[in-house]
Amino acid sequence: MATQRPILIIGGGLSGLAAARLLTNQGIPVIVFEQSEVDRSQGFGITVRDWAYNPLLEELGNRISVRDFQQAVATDGAVGGTGWVDLTFRHNGTGETLFNPDPPNPGQQNTIFRANRSFLRNWLAEGVDVRYQHKLESFESEPGHVKVVFENGTRQEGSMLVAADGVHSTVRGIAFPERQTLTILDVVLFHGKVKMSQSKYESVVSTGLGTSNVAAGVGDGFNTFITIANAEKESVYLDWSYSRARQGEKDPLWMPDRAELIKAPQHLLKEVRGRDLAPPFSSFVNADEIKKDKVYNWRIRSVYISRADLDQAAKRGVIFIGDSVHAMPIFGGEGGNHAMLDGVELFRTIKAKYGDKEAKFLRAGEVEAIVQAFYDATLQRSQDAVRRCVQRFSTFHKPIRQWEKVAEMSKAKNSGNNSSQ
Ligand SMILES: Cc1cc2nc3c(=O)[nH]c(=O)nc-3n(C[C@H](O)[C@H](O)[C@H](O)COP(=O)(O)OP(=O)(O)OC[C@H]3O[C@@H](n4cnc5c(N)ncnc54)[C@H](O)[C@@H]3O)c2cc1C
Repeated sequence: MATQRPILIIGGGLSGLAAARLLTNQGIPVIVFEQSEVDRSQGFGITVRDWAYNPLLEELGNRISVRDFQQAVATDGAVGGTGWVDLTFRHNGTGETLFNPDPPNPGQQNTIFRANRSFLRNWLAEGVDVRYQHKLESFESEPGHVKVVFENGTRQEGSMLVAADGVHSTVRGIAFPERQTLTILDVVLFHGKVKMSQSKYESVVSTGLGTSNVAAGVGDGFNTFITIANAEKESVYLDWSYSRARQGEKDPLWMPDRAELIKAPQHLLKEVRGRDLAPPFSSFVNADEIKKDKVYNWRIRSVYISRADLDQAAKRGVIFIGDSVHAMPIFGGEGGNHAMLDGVELFRTIKAKYGDKEAKFLRAGEVEAIVQAFYDATLQRSQDAVRRCVQRFSTFHKPIRQWEKVAEMSKAKNSGNNSSQ
């Protein structure tokens, strides 16, 4: 018998909201519980790829065109943009173009673009029952019957518990209290936010970047990245980052216990002063500017849970999607894309179980089978992506000589291609 209980999703991020939007669209009862308030922040930019957003638009019935979707969620949507991105790596000491790992195909629609994560979340949440300020505290569960308790005292029963609560997943902590599922990578990364007027942006940044929403710079063992978070008519909100590999046990900038907004450490200012950066990187990764404000000391993490553990949780009616099960480095990463695709795949798996049945509630016996089918279809993809992104992020910090070699090879390949056409 169907349980007459809704699906409960913990976490209103990209994975949870993508699943919820599609389930709601299909008339399948679902509630999302999100610990924070409605997201009204400037957010940050993420690179979104067609293999993640096309399936989402398809499952929404292709009623929304790619262009409309891009304009609604792009970092520069407010000024008529579609999040155009040129991922060309530049030498951050000279500004010279090195190579593009993801060159756009001439004449074809751009398959990647920069979306503002807050815009994307708000877009996904349209029509969805999201209960904000509900922080999960504990749960008890068996397939078909989960009981959750929130910090605000609210309780809710449901048919299945979807852990979409991100890299620090509370559900994961409760389900696997003894397991070490999170790894902190040996990388130092500082990040800051800058707001500037459109006119200053045009004179300082866009002269070098053109209409791209990002500038990726590589140096001798370090990396700089500038990205638009939100471009408005009058102002542009940008993020910058500076990263490198950890330098031994006594690295003064390795502060994993202080992963927070902090006063810029003297060692960082000294190190940045020693880097001879070219514009536009020098305007942001600049000691005199950085010291005026606070900086984020970010830890870069990855998450791995074995299939055996996931299967145990499935027996309790619990499923993990997005960063809660496969967090990956945020730069050169694909986490947001896999999160959205997980949401789509979960919806597809549930829809396949329902078939054309009238009943819109999950049967107790169906829950574990749905969870298993979901992992069969998706886990390899996302765990491979974690490995790939960890590897890719480490290459961002290689010596400049190696970057120059990559650039030479890329140029030789391109001229070979051109001459054979
Ligand atoms: C600066 C930055 C740049 C990035 N760039 C990219 C990029 O270019 N490309 C890319 O693909 N990815 C990128 N990512 C990664 C991407 O944002 C994440 O992979 C993605 O947001 C994960 O989605 P999620 O739904 O799994 O988790 P999240 O989006 O983290 O959502 C989890 C939600 O759960 C909520 N929550 C947590 N605990 C509880 C609880 N106990 N109760 C209730 N709610 C709870 C949180 O408040 C949060 O809203 C970037 C990330 C950052 C930080």
